[in-house]
Amino acid sequence: MVGELLCADPVCRTIAGIPTSVLRSRLRIVVQPAGTPMGQDPFVAAFHPDLVAALVVKGQRDETLVVTRHLAGTWPVPPARLWDDALDALGVEPLNVQGFQLSTANAPAYAINGQGWPGAAHMFRLDRAIGRPLPHGALVVLTTDNAFVTLPLESNATLRATAALWELNGALARDTPRALPARLLWVRGWTVHDLGAGVADGKFSFDLPQDLRAVLAALP
Ligand SMILES: [Zn+2]
Repeated sequence: MVGELLCADPVCRTIAGIPTSVLRSRLRIVVQPAGTPMGQDPFVAAFHPDLVAALVVKGQRDETLVVTRHLAGTWPVPPARLWDDALDALGVEPLNVQGFQLSTANAPAYAINGQGWPGAAHMFRLDRAIGRPLPHGALVVLTTDNAFVTLPLESNATLRATAALWELNGALARDTPRALPARLLWVRGWTVHDLGAGVADGKFSFDLPQDLRAVLAALP
């Protein structure tokens, strides 16, 4: 994109060298544990205390180039638009979407993972990933930076399948060396609530924030 770059950082220079016509289609988002080293001045959204989303560019050799704030600041595009563009561009990445029923509750669930490019950020474009409108969002547990399990929030029955979703994620996480901390998230567009889920004395529980109570009251 057009802009003046005075930075000598090799990643900034690499991104600045990508033609404007190509750059937008190579924007991506990755989700990482908070504290993951991403260089100086990364363009990130700390949407959760333990997790961070970073705006990156997929390089010529499919490498991850983290966009810096000072570089993005030279582009004539507002930050919110960059996130939307990156989410659109992420849609070209192949994704494995497996649908199934969890427990006896009538609640469709999905296990989703990227097939090459890391897939966790698809949680922000879930309606498109699973081909289902999600006006109330979905419950999501991220397993790794590539994979998550999710329950579309469509009725109060969804909540009865939440314990099974949590257990499923636990089983998947046990087999992976880079599991993310287990967090039950309610994701609606770019908005993420942590429902504070956990197991105490063998009993699974989670919180219902006021916003979620209001949504549930209007659902069957
Ligand atoms: Zn720089």
